[in-house]
Amino acid sequence: MSKKLVFVINSGSSSLKFSLIDSKSYKRFLTGIVECLYLINTNISWKTKNISIKNFFLKSYSTHENALEFIINNIIKKKIDIFNDIISVGHRVVHGGKKIKSSVIINESIMDIIKKASCFAPLHNSVNLLGIKLLIKILPFLRKKNVAVFDTSFYQRLPEKAYLYGIPYIFYKKYGIRRYGAHGISHSYIMKKTAEIICKDIMSINIISCHLGNGASVSVIKNGICIDTSMGLTPLEGLVMGTRSGDIDPSFIFYLYENMNMEIKEIKNLLTKKSGILGLSEETSDFRFSEKKYFSNKKAKRAVDIFSYKLVKYISSYFFLIAKEIDALVFTGGIGQNSVLVRKLTVSQLSSLGFELSEKFNNENGFKNNFCISSKKSIPILVVSTDEEIEIAKETIRLIN
Ligand code: AMP
Repeated sequence: MSKKLVFVINSGSSSLKFSLIDSKSYKRFLTGIVECLYLINTNISWKTKNISIKNFFLKSYSTHENALEFIINNIIKKKIDIFNDIISVGHRVVHGGKKIKSSVIINESIMDIIKKASCFAPLHNSVNLLGIKLLIKILPFLRKKNVAVFDTSFYQRLPEKAYLYGIPYIFYKKYGIRRYGAHGISHSYIMKKTAEIICKDIMSINIISCHLGNGASVSVIKNGICIDTSMGLTPLEGLVMGTRSGDIDPSFIFYLYENMNMEIKEIKNLLTKKSGILGLSEETSDFRFSEKKYFSNKKAKRAVDIFSYKLVKYISSYFFLIAKEIDALVFTGGIGQNSVLVRKLTVSQLSSLGFELSEKFNNENGFKNNFCISSKKSIPILVVSTDEEIEIAKETIRLIN
């Protein structure tokens, strides 16, 4: 019997994930990830489940474009049985700009909007658009079945006080300069999954969701609505990230420009590609290195400590927006799901708010997808595996039906 599959593409800043998901059961028929694209000083790795691929050449996947072409030509196209079962394609798109407020079926004008919004998500939207164009070319019969699911959709109900900057209002009104947030697909999935785990209605759930990966953000959700988030106009604001600085005093930019004669392009490159964990550790943006060397290398320790400290500051300020109503603090993303050390350093600085770890549970990494790491007397602290692909598949099916 033929299957009805959704092909989901999720291009992050350093990885490309893809899945073929059954449109009824939402079971994964095939899934894969190309990790560590563009990560500095680390090995690119490649994994797939449910399929065996041999003799592939890792070094060629240094960009999203290479990785995507490999996936299409060596997996999707060669498996004719799979190829014919694909009924739609779901794309993660980071920034929908001012105009797009929810998931949409892709056409020329949507592609144009995504392109224009690239100025707000330079590391992401261009890669997302590339995936859309490639897929339309390779699967022309599904031209009208490509759906864009936006990270920014999750933040459409942020209150004005959370999304406006303290700059002349005209910049918002005329040019759409505001805080848009990012990682919305992941935070949305985490909110729904947490509601399921703790058996609470989504409409009344209150959580702080920490998505800690190469990109990192914190969102606070009150009664099922995101009321504030750490990323802003672009995914550069907020926490310290793999290669992104997160919050800085904008005067640093004037300083570089006026005193160090740096061009705007160089400054942008410095803040988006050379800062964060890479800049602080002076070694790599790969968090595994800093975690491993935490007790033996001063620079690695510095990077991890600053990462956690900044996270503590965001969690504690968001805590006061939901305070006693809080259902859980949730960790997700490559670092959130795997770094015993980051969770320990972070939660230990939040004890006065009522958070306490169970060391035993915190160490239970990798045994389960979702697990609780808090002590009995603590506010619940959960580690939940994010699944942006399922969220994208559900949205895609909803739209094409
Ligand atoms: P993501 O963007 O969610 O795929 O996460 C990527 C980040 O997670 C990279 O900085 C990785 O080094 C980090 N990461 C992955 N596995 C681990 C681990 N076991 N311990 C610490 N960090 C990890």
